[in-house]
Formats: sequence, structure tokens, C-alpha cells
Amino acid sequence: MPPPPSPHDPPTRLRALAAALRGRCPHCARGRLFRRLLELADTCDVCSLRFDDDGSAVTAGMVFGFGVPLLVALPLGFALIARDAPLAMSLGAPAAVVIGAVPAVVRFSKAVWVWLMDGLGYLTTGT
Ligand SMILES: [Zn+2]
Repeated sequence: MPPPPSPHDPPTRLRALAAALRGRCPHCARGRLFRRLLELADTCDVCSLRFDDDGSAVTAGMVFGFGVPLLVALPLGFALIARDAPLAMSLGAPAAVVIGAVPAVVRFSKAVWVWLMDGLGYLTTGT
């Protein structure tokens, strides 16, 4: 029977993803991933993993963070226009989707991107 996992063991890939989605470092599952709501920390304050040396997490956050809500909002707007909904509703409902979803999707996208890059071994430790 294997020994129980120590809190200092690296997390499994699934636990690392869960940690990243909770805003924790995917490498150690203890350090903070975000400095502010949408701003990644430079490094993990526990294991010194550098989260975004090349800026790709910010790019992924912007691409997916705006792209995914637009993929929902545009068909919604066209469907409302096609059903002769009032123009304010046809424009307002998609705008509300974008405004409401972008921050959550940006944060989610950055966390998943850092988890993916860590899992692929692209992230380094150090200051
Ligand atoms: Zn860490």
C-alpha cells in the first residue's frame, strides 16, 4: 500500500487543475496564482514558479476571454434580430453576456493556460 500523499508532494494533474481554478499555483497547489482579480502574480510565493514569462497567459486570457463570450453573444444577437425582438433587447442582451462573462472567462483562461504550460514543462522556477 503506497504511503498517503504528503502536502509537499506535487499535485496530480487533476488536483493541479483544480488548484489553478481556485486561484492557486498548479505546481505546488499552495501559492497564489493571481495578484488581483484578473492579474497573474509574477511568481509563486511558495515554489517560485514563474507563471507568465512570455506573456502567453495574458494573450490566452484575452483571446479566450473575449472570444468565447462573443461566440455566445453574436448568435444570440442575430437570433433576437431574426425574431424581430426590440432593437434595444437585440443589442443589450448580447452586450450583457459579454460584459458579464468576460472577467470570469479571462480569469479561467489564464488559470487553465498556466496549468497547461506547467504540465507541459514550459514554466521555470526562479526570481
Ligand atoms: Zn507554487
